Amino acid sequence: MQQAERGTRSLRSSYQRAPGGSVYLDIQMLWGMHYLTKAGWSYRVTELAGGSHSKKSSHYRGVSFDVDYINGVKVGRGNPHLRGFMWKCRQLGAREVKGPGTAGHSSHVHVEW
Ligand SMILES: [Zn+2]
Repeated sequence: MQQAERGTRSLRSSYQRAPGGSVYLDIQMLWGMHYLTKAGWSYRVTELAGGSHSKKSSHYRGVSFDVDYINGVKVGRGNPHLRGFMWKCRQLGAREVKGPGTAGHSSHVHVEW
């Protein structure tokens, strides 16, 4: 993220299935994250381009991020902020938003531009 703010490429991880190297974070996604914050949402980002995901993961292309806390509450089926947050992400242009109820996403929300 700091790398993206400086306009440089962001590093990818190189463990497990991560490809290493670097990628530019998608500007639409960065604006989306900015507007989420401006709209009053607080959220903790666990992965951007880093981390190890499925082989063809959009994370490696710099167009997605994962969130495990929304407004201070851990992501899970009972999180009262979940629906609103996911809706807001779509409204801001995210093309794919996956969370609890989708396989592999019981404890985080995946937001992809
Ligand atoms: Zn993800």
